[in-house]
Amino acid sequence: MDYFPVFFQLRDLPVLVVGGGEVAARKARLLQDAHAKVEIVAPELCDALRAEVAAGRMRHQPACFLPEHLQEVRLVIAATNDPAVNRAVFEAAEAQRIPVNVVDQPELCRFIMPAIVDRSPLVIAVSTSGGVPVLARHLRTRLEGLIPHGYGELAKLAGSFRSQAKQKLPDPASRRLFWEDVLEGTVAEQVFAGQLEAARETLTRQLEAADAAQLQQGCVYLVGGGPGNPDLLTFRALRLMQLADVVLYDNLVAPAILELVRRDADRVYVGKRSNNHALPQQDINLLMVELAQQGKKVLRLKGGDPFIFGRGGEEIETLAEHGIPFEVVPGITSAAGASCYAGIPLTHRDYAQACTFVTGHRREGETRLDWARLSHPSETVVVYMGVAQAPDICRQLIEHGRLPETPVAVVEQATTRQQRVRTGTLADLPSLIETHGIRSPALIIIGDVVRLHDKLRWHDDRADPL
Ligand code: SAH
Repeated sequence: MDYFPVFFQLRDLPVLVVGGGEVAARKARLLQDAHAKVEIVAPELCDALRAEVAAGRMRHQPACFLPEHLQEVRLVIAATNDPAVNRAVFEAAEAQRIPVNVVDQPELCRFIMPAIVDRSPLVIAVSTSGGVPVLARHLRTRLEGLIPHGYGELAKLAGSFRSQAKQKLPDPASRRLFWEDVLEGTVAEQVFAGQLEAARETLTRQLEAADAAQLQQGCVYLVGGGPGNPDLLTFRALRLMQLADVVLYDNLVAPAILELVRRDADRVYVGKRSNNHALPQQDINLLMVELAQQGKKVLRLKGGDPFIFGRGGEEIETLAEHGIPFEVVPGITSAAGASCYAGIPLTHRDYAQACTFVTGHRREGETRLDWARLSHPSETVVVYMGVAQAPDICRQLIEHGRLPETPVAVVEQATTRQQRVRTGTLADLPSLIETHGIRSPALIIIGDVVRLHDKLRWHDDRADPL
């Protein structure tokens, strides 16, 4: 983070705007919205500012800026079109340790102003660290459309119940759950519909009926996090990621996805690379039971889809045996992600009428796959966890009749910015993997559909490492 985001309490405090034009007027108005005492230093004022001064809402010193003007001032914004004056304001403010902003000159700013969505008391600030203000404004416009105007009222109403809620539900975790229900349920809808009195009554009733024990019942969400690109998460996954108290994740979950988990949730790495488990599966299963029994909302976040080569089934079997409530959220499995982002449809009327997902991971040293069926020319085969076993897979398929020149693709870190797609033939598969230094996570796609890659590719891949 290049800037530390804060909200400044300026009520009744003197602030200075240097400059008398339209830009200065905009900044002065914002400061006024925050109830600051706005003083303007400028030889002349534009009409808008003159009107504010005439109405007694701002004060004007008709002068050129001098460092003395900063006495008592808590914050200063310079918005003149004279670079020398702007610099003088910056230097004088720095010397006196007063936060300063010079409009459109990031190098002369101790603080910068975000684009804001104002639903006071709810305020959303968006910043690009001064880099691309247009992007911040663009995002703000999207947020404006997304956030009902009633949110300000909702924040006010919830705020007025804050101390009552604290008394009734002293434990912060149950209080958070209570508010989550309120902000998503009837109360919120009533506020948005303008029925403020009804909303107040509903909230009063709900708070009276709130039961800490019930709110605090633990549960487990087994959630598919998709193949790595955060845009491919489901709404449900994101929602639960924002709700959970503790998150159990492994190395298939991309850091960009973990970023979206509620900030104050505990994160537990339970690892899992083939043959190098940070925690044995049984221990993961029991850890989830234990955490849920402590009343926690546990999120078990898995790469791809939890029910495809993810041992998700085993994990919830243990939960079911212990009577722990759970929910399973599907994710985009990496084969689907890799197929789309590599431009290789898994089925195609001309090339493949069936597609099979198989694991290359061997249990007790052997793969038990129906090689004869997988060797059929109209079948697409997607191999998960197959990088290490590629020579064996390739040999078995050729022995069972698949043509050595069948096209294959290896897709590493599919759907992410690090994605690499390399294509070759079945006979070359092991050397393809070796030459390009392909590492897990990677999928192997085998079949004539791979021919379409050259024509249908649309995603820019990372180059080979040097
Ligand atoms: N449940 C997961 C699969 C877990 S098995 C899913 O539905 O995708 C782990 C294997 O998935 C890895 O060895 C790799 O073959 C594959 N995989 C997972 N994410 C991947 C990605 N982003 N790119 C390529 N392969 C991936």
